[in-house]
Amino acid sequence: MSAGPATTSYLDRYEAAVMNTFGRPKLVLERGEGIRVWDVDGREYVDFLGGIAVNTLGHAHPALVAAVTDQLATLGHVSNFFTTRPQVELAERLLTVMTPPEVDARVFFCNSGAEANEAALKITRRTGRTHIVAMEDAFHGRTFGSLSLTSKAAYREPFEPLPGEVTWVPYGDVDAVAAAVTEATAAVVIEPLQGEAGVNVASAEFLTAVRTVTTERGALLWFDEVQSGMGRTGHWLASHPSGVVPDIVTLAKGLAGGVPIGACLGLGAAAALLQPGQHGTTFGGNPVACAAALAVIDTIETDGLIERAVLAGGRLRAGIAQDDRVVEVRGEGVLVGLTLEGVEAPRVVAAAQDAGWIINATGPDRIRFAPPLIVSDTDIDELVQAWPGILDAAVAMAAESAS
Ligand SMILES: *Cc1c(COP(=O)(O)O)cnc(C)c1O
Repeated sequence: MSAGPATTSYLDRYEAAVMNTFGRPKLVLERGEGIRVWDVDGREYVDFLGGIAVNTLGHAHPALVAAVTDQLATLGHVSNFFTTRPQVELAERLLTVMTPPEVDARVFFCNSGAEANEAALKITRRTGRTHIVAMEDAFHGRTFGSLSLTSKAAYREPFEPLPGEVTWVPYGDVDAVAAAVTEATAAVVIEPLQGEAGVNVASAEFLTAVRTVTTERGALLWFDEVQSGMGRTGHWLASHPSGVVPDIVTLAKGLAGGVPIGACLGLGAAAALLQPGQHGTTFGGNPVACAAALAVIDTIETDGLIERAVLAGGRLRAGIAQDDRVVEVRGEGVLVGLTLEGVEAPRVVAAAQDAGWIINATGPDRIRFAPPLIVSDTDIDELVQAWPGILDAAVAMAAESAS
């Protein structure tokens, strides 16, 4: 489907004014409500990507709008010479829902996932060790520190040399972790559920075994839950069902439902490794962002959105798996990945967009869904109904371009 006139005009202006790090955007979006968004030509889309697992409450949720507007009208920014009620309350709430009550823990606030991982990486350096063990297919962000842990060579190589000595091991391979972690290892970093890789879920056995190895060798265990945290997988943290208590947890994407924020949680001794003057941020812990996150946590609790994520995810996975061209479906809650056979994932994304659905390809044959936690059964059933037609259209598109 060809782009509308306003879309084409804005995209041309975008290309002339915005640095080309993302390629030409797929759409120019103007407004949203619930899980729907509209582009500048008035076309409607159902958003099953949720800003990449960010729009926890969908678009323009009244609770989030009210929290942000009220806080901005009250006190918008103060610097970290000062603190605010929302900042203190958010730190307490995060510790309450995410860390065990018997563990002493602290929060560092920042503005993004990469920054949360930078803070974590600085914590790991305070162990006096520098070696990090990370997972193959891991994604931890694009700053120098977080990039040094990201496994994809194409992301790293243009910017080498990067900090750190990093060993990557296959995701889920206990023996490989045991062989890689030594007395010189500062930390093992794991996404309990890998998002950018196309949704891979670590087993509880794997997380438990890594906890044992890291404890034995005196290394920190760091869970990057930037994408998997905040209820999306049916738990506040994707690692919760394993019962494994890490030393560090990083959060960002869904935390404030679209308002930029990041958080690094230190548990036990790791909570006190950063000392005054060793790290900082101007915007981190900003009261507007913290008020937004509090509204997200409140709404998740009052509306039962964690339970909802489980039911919605189960319905979505079962529905899309019915097509034979879907050969594997992975994920927990509303973070869902699938592998296709005989259909190219990027064409499926294009065909879906033509049909009014926003989804995402994480690889040539992998599709990811990360809809808002408020996604309804009707939304899911409509997508499931449209799904075979979307795959047919993707196949037709490929045939057309080949001829
Ligand atoms: C998105 C993501 C990041 C990076 O977050 P940014 O906010 O883009 O810096 C880090 N880790 C994981 C697991 C992510 O999914």
